[in-house]
Amino acid sequence: MILIDGKKAAAELREELKKEVIQLKEKYNRVPGLTVILIGDMAPSQIYVRNKEKSANEVGLKSEVIKYPDSVEEKTVLKKIKELNNDENVSGILVQLPLPKHIDKQKVIETIIPSKDVDGFHPMNVGNLSSGYESSVPCTPLGCYLMIKKVEPNLSGKKAVVVGRSNLNGKPMTQLLLKENCTVTVTHSRTKDLKAECLEADIIVAAVGIPELVKGDWVKKDAIVIDVGINKTEKGLVGDVAFDEVSKVAKALTPVPGGVGPMTIACLLKNTIECFKRSQI
Ligand code: NAD
Repeated sequence: MILIDGKKAAAELREELKKEVIQLKEKYNRVPGLTVILIGDMAPSQIYVRNKEKSANEVGLKSEVIKYPDSVEEKTVLKKIKELNNDENVSGILVQLPLPKHIDKQKVIETIIPSKDVDGFHPMNVGNLSSGYESSVPCTPLGCYLMIKKVEPNLSGKKAVVVGRSNLNGKPMTQLLLKENCTVTVTHSRTKDLKAECLEADIIVAAVGIPELVKGDWVKKDAIVIDVGINKTEKGLVGDVAFDEVSKVAKALTPVPGGVGPMTIACLLKNTIECFKRSQI
């Protein structure tokens, strides 16, 4: 079984990006810039943002974190986003989710100009992705996609099952697999027989949030299985896939932790560089 090492894949991607940033600097005399807006003091968000900033610096991007307290007014955040939209030193803008209840998430997402939307959440980018046009792609599914392609470069005609239909993961993952000419089944909480669906799959991407939902006897021999889930349990962090069982049948599998997570951040850097390059045309 191939253990898909997300840390290694992310380190390789960061190395490539680092080289690209050097070339971009030579060509344009400036480097891509990522600005993250962090609202409140929720510990997980603080950690995510710190990791994003560290990784951005590592590949040579210009990075900035703008912090607001939980009580910040929505209009203050929207005004700042509009300023950043017009700042030519800012290539990508990310507002760390979740947001306090009094701030309208959709309004925030739609205020970020699509060309700087490094998360790929703006409806324009969502539409472009589903139409097969160039767009920013949400970082987690992009990371999953790159890891699948490392194991199997030609996905044409493969049967893929995506478990979960969130805007963040399941839906963009579906679009990426469709673009690669997979036959994709999207499953969710109302799916009648999830096991039967998964047993058909050459590729399974599980993005649900239920510990070890996908069992060993749900997986066809030699399937590629990508585990997006991060679940805190008594036995520590586990994914949505029963790792020990599935590793006995799958051709390739991502671990949790150390699988999809590290690639997510590396893809954010990739998206920032892509936004910069598109803005130079
Ligand atoms: P979500 O809660 O927005 O969506 C979950 C989806 O799972 C829904 O579409 C729902 O219909 C489906 N679902 C729920 N119960 C189901 C069942 N019994 N069978 C089949 N489908 C079912 O979650 P999300 O934001 O997509 O996140 C999913 C998981 O991925 C979470 O554990 C989250 O922590 C993790 N995550 C990881 C990363 C990363 O970088 N590794 C990034 C984002 C999210």
